[in-house]
Amino acid sequence: MLCDLCPRECHIERTERQGGYCGVGTLPKIARIAPHYDEEPILSGTGGAGTVFFSGCSLRCVYCQNHEISADDFGTYITPYQLSEEYRRLEAMGVHNIEFVTPTHYIDAILESLCYYRPKLPLVYNSSGYEKVESLKKLDGVIDIYLPDFKYSNNTLAHRLSACADYAETAAAAIEEMLRQVGAPVMEDKLMKRGVMIRHLVLPSHVKNSIGVLEIIKEKWDSSVLVSLMSQYFPTGKADQYPDINRRITLREYQKVLDKLYELELDGFAQELESADKKYVPKWNYGN
Ligand code: SF4
Repeated sequence: MLCDLCPRECHIERTERQGGYCGVGTLPKIARIAPHYDEEPILSGTGGAGTVFFSGCSLRCVYCQNHEISADDFGTYITPYQLSEEYRRLEAMGVHNIEFVTPTHYIDAILESLCYYRPKLPLVYNSSGYEKVESLKKLDGVIDIYLPDFKYSNNTLAHRLSACADYAETAAAAIEEMLRQVGAPVMEDKLMKRGVMIRHLVLPSHVKNSIGVLEIIKEKWDSSVLVSLMSQYFPTGKADQYPDINRRITLREYQKVLDKLYELELDGFAQELESADKKYVPKWNYGN
Protein backbone atom coordinates (compact mmCIF):
# COMPACT_ATOMS: atom_id res chain seq x y z
CA MET A 1 0.00 0.00 0.00
CA LEU A 2 1.06 3.61 -0.46
CA CYS A 3 1.62 4.80 3.08
CA ASP A 4 0.56 8.26 4.29
CA LEU A 5 -0.35 7.17 7.80
CA CYS A 6 1.71 9.75 9.66
CA PRO A 7 2.64 13.40 8.97
CA ARG A 8 5.79 12.28 7.09
CA GLU A 9 3.43 11.27 4.26
CA CYS A 10 6.08 9.17 2.53
CA HIS A 11 3.54 8.04 -0.09
CA ILE A 12 5.70 5.02 -0.84
CA GLU A 13 4.82 1.38 -1.31
CA ARG A 14 5.06 -0.01 2.22
CA THR A 15 5.36 -3.79 2.24
CA GLU A 16 5.06 -6.22 5.16
CA ARG A 17 8.73 -5.78 6.08
CA GLN A 18 9.79 -2.54 4.43
CA GLY A 19 8.67 0.98 5.23
CA GLY A 20 9.54 4.61 4.61
CA TYR A 21 10.86 7.14 7.11
CA CYS A 22 9.68 4.94 10.04
CA GLY A 23 11.94 2.16 8.74
CA VAL A 24 9.56 -0.75 9.28
CA GLY A 25 6.95 -2.64 7.29
CA THR A 26 3.25 -3.05 7.95
CA LEU A 27 3.68 -6.23 10.03
CA PRO A 28 4.18 -5.33 13.71
CA LYS A 29 7.86 -5.40 14.61
CA ILE A 30 8.19 -5.91 18.35
CA ALA A 31 11.03 -5.02 20.74
CA ARG A 32 9.44 -5.95 24.05
CA ILE A 33 6.11 -7.10 25.49
CA ALA A 34 5.94 -7.21 29.29
CA PRO A 35 4.41 -5.61 32.39
CA HIS A 36 6.13 -2.27 32.97
CA TYR A 37 6.35 -0.74 36.42
CA ASP A 38 8.11 2.57 35.69
CA GLU A 39 5.21 4.46 34.10
CA GLU A 40 3.24 7.07 36.06
CA PRO A 41 1.65 5.37 39.13
CA ILE A 42 -1.86 5.79 37.68
CA LEU A 43 -0.79 3.58 34.74
CA SER A 44 1.61 1.13 36.41
CA GLY A 45 -0.40 0.61 39.61
CA THR A 46 0.71 -2.58 41.34
CA GLY A 47 0.28 -4.98 38.41
CA GLY A 48 2.18 -2.93 35.84
CA ALA A 49 1.21 -1.40 32.52
CA GLY A 50 0.90 -4.07 29.80
CA THR A 51 3.42 -2.52 27.44
CA VAL A 52 3.89 -3.45 23.80
CA PHE A 53 7.03 -1.69 22.51
CA PHE A 54 6.98 -1.38 18.73
CA SER A 55 10.18 -1.01 16.73
CA GLY A 56 10.67 1.79 14.22
CA CYS A 57 9.50 5.38 14.63
CA SER A 58 8.04 8.07 12.42
CA LEU A 59 9.74 10.86 14.40
CA ARG A 60 13.30 9.60 15.09
CA CYS A 61 14.70 12.30 17.36
CA VAL A 62 18.51 12.47 17.33
CA TYR A 63 18.56 11.92 21.12
CA CYS A 64 16.03 9.06 21.16
CA GLN A 65 16.22 7.36 24.56
CA ASN A 66 15.17 4.10 22.86
CA HIS A 67 17.25 4.45 19.70
CA GLU A 68 18.13 0.72 19.62
CA ILE A 69 14.52 0.01 18.68
CA SER A 70 13.45 3.25 17.01
CA ALA A 71 16.31 3.46 14.54
CA ASP A 72 18.77 0.58 15.00
CA ASP A 73 16.66 -2.21 13.58
CA PHE A 74 16.10 -4.30 16.73
CA GLY A 75 12.85 -6.27 16.81
CA THR A 76 10.93 -9.31 15.63
CA TYR A 77 8.09 -9.26 13.11
CA ILE A 78 4.86 -10.93 14.19
CA THR A 79 1.38 -11.10 12.71
CA PRO A 80 -1.61 -9.12 14.01
CA TYR A 81 -3.07 -12.44 15.23
CA GLN A 82 0.08 -13.20 17.25
CA LEU A 83 -0.13 -9.68 18.65
CA SER A 84 -3.67 -10.37 19.85
CA GLU A 85 -2.43 -13.49 21.64
CA GLU A 86 0.08 -11.30 23.48
CA TYR A 87 -2.81 -9.21 24.83
CA ARG A 88 -4.30 -12.36 26.34
CA ARG A 89 -0.93 -13.25 27.89
CA LEU A 90 -0.49 -9.79 29.42
CA GLU A 91 -4.06 -9.77 30.67
CA ALA A 92 -3.54 -13.13 32.41
CA MET A 93 -0.47 -11.64 34.14
CA GLY A 94 -2.69 -9.05 35.87
CA VAL A 95 -1.62 -5.84 34.12
CA HIS A 96 -3.91 -2.80 34.43
CA ASN A 97 -4.00 -1.83 30.75
CA ILE A 98 -2.57 -2.65 27.34
CA GLU A 99 -0.17 0.12 26.35
CA PHE A 100 0.92 0.53 22.73
CA VAL A 101 4.29 2.32 22.77
CA THR A 102 5.29 4.20 19.59
CA PRO A 103 2.32 2.79 17.66
CA THR A 104 1.78 5.53 15.03
CA HIS A 105 3.12 3.52 12.09
CA TYR A 106 1.12 0.43 13.20
CA ILE A 107 -2.38 1.85 13.57
CA ASP A 108 -3.80 -0.49 10.92
CA ALA A 109 -2.10 -3.61 12.32
CA ILE A 110 -3.29 -2.75 15.85
CA LEU A 111 -6.87 -2.36 14.62
CA GLU A 112 -6.64 -5.75 12.89
CA SER A 113 -5.23 -7.41 16.03
CA LEU A 114 -8.14 -6.07 18.08
CA CYS A 115 -10.58 -7.81 15.73
CA TYR A 116 -9.08 -11.13 16.90
CA TYR A 117 -9.15 -10.23 20.57
CA ARG A 118 -10.23 -7.07 22.38
CA PRO A 119 -8.73 -7.08 25.90
CA LYS A 120 -11.11 -6.21 28.72
CA LEU A 121 -8.70 -3.50 29.88
CA PRO A 122 -8.17 0.16 28.98
CA LEU A 123 -6.13 0.57 25.80
CA VAL A 124 -3.35 3.16 26.01
CA TYR A 125 -1.85 4.90 22.97
CA ASN A 126 1.63 6.21 23.89
CA SER A 127 3.02 8.30 21.06
CA SER A 128 5.46 11.03 20.06
CA GLY A 129 2.55 13.40 19.49
CA TYR A 130 3.55 13.76 15.82
CA GLU A 131 0.32 12.35 14.41
CA LYS A 132 -2.14 12.94 11.60
CA VAL A 133 -5.67 13.74 12.81
CA GLU A 134 -7.09 11.72 9.92
CA SER A 135 -5.22 8.60 11.11
CA LEU A 136 -6.17 9.16 14.74
CA LYS A 137 -9.83 9.20 13.72
CA LYS A 138 -9.48 5.48 12.93
CA LEU A 139 -8.93 4.96 16.68
CA ASP A 140 -12.09 6.78 17.77
CA GLY A 141 -14.01 4.51 20.16
CA VAL A 142 -11.05 2.10 20.41
CA ILE A 143 -8.44 3.87 22.54
CA ASP A 144 -9.31 4.77 26.13
CA ILE A 145 -6.19 6.64 27.23
CA TYR A 146 -3.97 8.82 25.07
CA LEU A 147 -0.42 9.39 26.28
CA PRO A 148 1.10 11.78 23.73
CA ASP A 149 4.40 13.59 24.07
CA PHE A 150 4.43 17.32 23.51
CA LYS A 151 8.14 17.72 22.80
CA TYR A 152 8.55 21.15 21.30
CA SER A 153 6.96 24.58 21.38
CA ASN A 154 9.95 25.76 19.33
CA ASN A 155 9.73 24.48 15.75
CA THR A 156 13.31 25.52 14.96
CA LEU A 157 14.44 23.12 17.66
CA ALA A 158 11.99 20.48 16.40
CA HIS A 159 13.46 20.83 12.92
CA ARG A 160 17.01 20.52 14.20
CA LEU A 161 16.50 17.58 16.56
CA SER A 162 13.56 15.71 15.03
CA ALA A 163 13.51 16.85 11.39
CA CYS A 164 10.01 18.28 11.57
CA ALA A 165 9.48 22.02 11.32
CA ASP A 166 5.73 21.68 11.95
CA TYR A 167 5.85 19.75 15.23
CA ALA A 168 4.13 22.25 17.56
CA GLU A 169 1.00 22.78 15.48
CA THR A 170 0.83 19.12 14.37
CA ALA A 171 1.05 17.82 17.94
CA ALA A 172 -1.47 20.43 19.15
CA ALA A 173 -3.99 19.37 16.49
CA ALA A 174 -3.40 15.69 17.34
CA ILE A 175 -3.96 16.29 21.07
CA GLU A 176 -7.12 18.23 20.27
CA GLU A 177 -8.45 15.18 18.41
CA MET A 178 -7.38 12.82 21.23
CA LEU A 179 -9.24 14.95 23.74
CA ARG A 180 -12.31 15.06 21.52
CA GLN A 181 -12.33 11.25 21.49
CA VAL A 182 -11.80 10.44 25.16
CA GLY A 183 -12.60 13.61 27.15
CA ALA A 184 -11.41 14.60 30.60
CA PRO A 185 -9.43 12.16 32.80
CA VAL A 186 -11.42 9.43 34.56
CA MET A 187 -9.85 7.69 37.57
CA GLU A 188 -10.96 4.59 39.43
CA ASP A 189 -9.16 2.99 42.39
CA LYS A 190 -6.14 5.29 41.78
CA LEU A 191 -5.81 4.07 38.18
CA MET A 192 -6.41 6.06 35.00
CA LYS A 193 -9.26 4.56 32.99
CA ARG A 194 -9.78 7.22 30.36
CA GLY A 195 -8.45 10.59 29.22
CA VAL A 196 -5.32 12.31 27.96
CA MET A 197 -2.01 12.63 29.78
CA ILE A 198 0.61 14.75 28.00
CA ARG A 199 4.26 13.90 28.59
CA HIS A 200 7.09 16.37 28.21
CA LEU A 201 10.75 15.41 28.38
CA VAL A 202 12.88 18.35 29.53
CA LEU A 203 15.97 18.74 27.32
CA PRO A 204 19.26 20.24 28.52
CA SER A 205 19.86 23.88 27.41
CA HIS A 206 16.22 24.27 26.31
CA VAL A 207 14.24 25.41 29.33
CA LYS A 208 12.40 28.01 27.20
CA ASN A 209 11.13 25.29 24.92
CA SER A 210 9.74 23.42 27.95
CA ILE A 211 8.13 26.51 29.41
CA GLY A 212 6.56 27.21 26.01
CA VAL A 213 5.08 23.71 25.98
CA LEU A 214 3.55 24.16 29.45
CA GLU A 215 2.09 27.52 28.42
CA ILE A 216 0.48 26.01 25.33
CA ILE A 217 -1.02 23.21 27.44
CA LYS A 218 -2.40 25.73 29.94
CA GLU A 219 -3.85 27.95 27.25
CA LYS A 220 -5.42 25.20 25.14
CA TRP A 221 -6.45 22.43 27.53
CA ASP A 222 -5.72 23.36 31.16
CA SER A 223 -7.46 20.89 33.49
CA SER A 224 -8.93 18.73 30.69
CA VAL A 225 -5.59 16.91 30.53
CA LEU A 226 -2.95 15.63 32.94
CA VAL A 227 0.69 16.60 32.49
CA SER A 228 3.67 14.36 33.14
CA LEU A 229 6.97 16.21 33.33
CA MET A 230 9.95 13.96 32.65
CA SER A 231 13.52 14.55 33.80
CA GLN A 232 14.94 11.23 32.61
CA TYR A 233 16.91 12.58 29.64
CA PHE A 234 20.43 11.25 29.20
CA PRO A 235 22.57 11.78 26.08
CA THR A 236 22.37 8.82 23.73
CA GLY A 237 21.79 8.08 20.06
CA LYS A 238 23.32 10.92 18.03
CA ALA A 239 23.28 13.43 20.92
CA ASP A 240 27.09 13.53 20.91
CA GLN A 241 26.86 15.47 17.62
CA TYR A 242 24.82 18.24 19.32
CA PRO A 243 26.83 19.93 22.11
CA ASP A 244 23.77 21.62 23.66
CA ILE A 245 22.07 18.31 24.41
CA ASN A 246 25.16 16.20 25.06
CA ARG A 247 24.66 16.13 28.83
CA ARG A 248 21.99 15.49 31.44
CA ILE A 249 19.73 18.33 32.58
CA THR A 250 20.81 20.27 35.67
CA LEU A 251 18.80 20.64 38.85
CA ARG A 252 18.56 24.40 38.14
CA GLU A 253 17.08 23.77 34.66
CA TYR A 254 14.59 21.25 35.98
CA GLN A 255 13.59 23.51 38.87
CA LYS A 256 12.79 26.35 36.45
CA VAL A 257 10.44 24.11 34.49
CA LEU A 258 8.92 22.71 37.70
CA ASP A 259 8.33 26.25 38.98
CA LYS A 260 6.40 27.02 35.79
CA LEU A 261 4.37 23.82 36.14
CA TYR A 262 3.35 24.85 39.67
CA GLU A 263 2.77 28.48 38.70
CA LEU A 264 0.38 27.40 35.94
CA GLU A 265 -1.30 24.94 38.35
CA LEU A 266 -1.31 22.14 35.82
CA ASP A 267 -2.41 18.80 37.24
CA GLY A 268 -0.28 15.67 36.89
CA PHE A 269 3.14 14.29 37.72
CA ALA A 270 6.79 15.34 37.84
CA GLN A 271 9.60 12.81 37.78
CA GLU A 272 12.42 12.89 40.32
CA LEU A 273 15.67 14.14 38.77
CA GLU A 274 17.46 10.88 39.64
CA SER A 275 15.32 9.14 36.99
CA ALA A 276 17.95 10.28 34.45
CA ASP A 277 19.64 6.93 34.23
CA LYS A 278 20.06 4.31 31.53
CA LYS A 279 18.83 1.67 33.98
CA TYR A 280 15.28 2.93 33.32
CA VAL A 281 15.52 1.93 29.66
CA PRO A 282 13.67 -1.40 29.33
CA LYS A 283 15.46 -4.54 28.14
CA TRP A 284 14.76 -5.12 24.47
CA ASN A 285 14.32 -8.87 24.36
CA TYR A 286 11.31 -9.85 22.29
CA GLY A 287 12.04 -12.98 20.27
CA ASN A 288 15.36 -13.64 22.04
S1 SF4 B 1 4.03 5.38 8.73
FE1 SF4 B 1 6.15 5.18 7.95
S2 SF4 B 1 5.95 4.81 5.74
FE2 SF4 B 1 3.99 5.60 6.48
S3 SF4 B 1 4.03 7.79 6.14
FE3 SF4 B 1 4.76 7.46 8.22
S4 SF4 B 1 6.98 7.26 8.12
FE4 SF4 B 1 6.16 7.03 6.04
